[in-house]
Amino acid sequence: MTATPTSRAKLPLLVLGQGTDLHTERGVECPGDLPPASDPGLVERARAAKAALGDRVFVLGHHYQRDEVIEFADTTGDSFKLAKEAAARPDAPWIVFCGVHFMAESADILTSDEQTVILPDLAAGCSMADMATMDQVEDCWDDLVDAGIADRVVPVTYMNSSAAIKAFTGRHGGTICTSSNAKTALTWALDQAGDGGKVLFLPDQHLGRNTYARDLGRPLEDCVVWDPHRPMGGLTKEQLDAATMILWRGHCSVHGRFSVEAVEAARREIPDVKVIVHPECRYEVVELADEVGSTEKIIKTIAAAPAGTKWVVGTELNLVRRLGQQFPDQQISFLEKNVCYCSTMNRIDLPHLVWALESLVEGRVVNPIRVDPQVAHDAKVALDRMLALPGETHKD
Ligand code: SF4
Repeated sequence: MTATPTSRAKLPLLVLGQGTDLHTERGVECPGDLPPASDPGLVERARAAKAALGDRVFVLGHHYQRDEVIEFADTTGDSFKLAKEAAARPDAPWIVFCGVHFMAESADILTSDEQTVILPDLAAGCSMADMATMDQVEDCWDDLVDAGIADRVVPVTYMNSSAAIKAFTGRHGGTICTSSNAKTALTWALDQAGDGGKVLFLPDQHLGRNTYARDLGRPLEDCVVWDPHRPMGGLTKEQLDAATMILWRGHCSVHGRFSVEAVEAARREIPDVKVIVHPECRYEVVELADEVGSTEKIIKTIAAAPAGTKWVVGTELNLVRRLGQQFPDQQISFLEKNVCYCSTMNRIDLPHLVWALESLVEGRVVNPIRVDPQVAHDAKVALDRMLALPGETHKD
């Protein structure tokens, strides 16, 4: 098949707040009384609502959230750690997830049916997760079937993906990975694929490439990039046959901005500096760094460093700023000169959190995240495969 591989693909190009597609623009307008951001009583209202709810609510805060939101988090962490923390609190009927949509979905999959996961602003999505839609991934698989290689392809899907893509991965014998365990997951998948086998890595091309070439020391030339907007992913049958890694053409709009020039400038301007970056950064940037790791690893590495260590950090700005406050004995700088917040993470602000909490106090559950049971089942198959990986305990 060559002519219509992207026929089912939808390419939403949407300016939020236009009111033209109310389903897609979900969360832009909140029903009820969303307090204005200028309300001087917001902090007190959040405290009062949380106190009134007591142990019935558990608030999760991703590392990239604003300080004003993190202040009300019962625990902080990366996406998978937070989902597991939610599952470890079966007595809390309400889980308020201060993060983005795919994270709340994962929490819903891993928590019990009696628990409800709430995302304070439904417009808090993830540009990377949105780069792989279900239609596009199914079209890709159809093409791999037509190319005669699908039976030798094992999908590995990054946590930062929709529940539907995780479910696809479960149905096709693949596993989920995190930025902490991508090396283990990829080693397992290559082993499953066998001689001449291939891995389809979704949706972050950079994490896939960095893990394969840098962590496993395998040749970059084994990697091809599947562009979902082009027939056959923009590849020939010969290129697919020769490849071992088929990298989905997705990336993080935050980590993708860190540049080689910024690393070089940091080394010029700060003597003895250490550069630490997230593996969602581009390969050339990761190659120049002293340390590479997940948000949890970045935090632990800096925490363990002696006073006086100079760091330039390539990850989301809210986290880097907090690290600077937490470790004043170290010199911590941000890798880019331009402001680099995750704009969708930042949609969760104090007015939305107060609105979600006060609604619960009034007996109303707003913005529940409910994954379709069949999708949740198939996604959990892939998540369970990850948990069964050799030595895997999700080492942050
Ligand atoms: S930082 Fe990147 S991967 Fe994480 S939520 Fe934002 S856009 Fe998605």
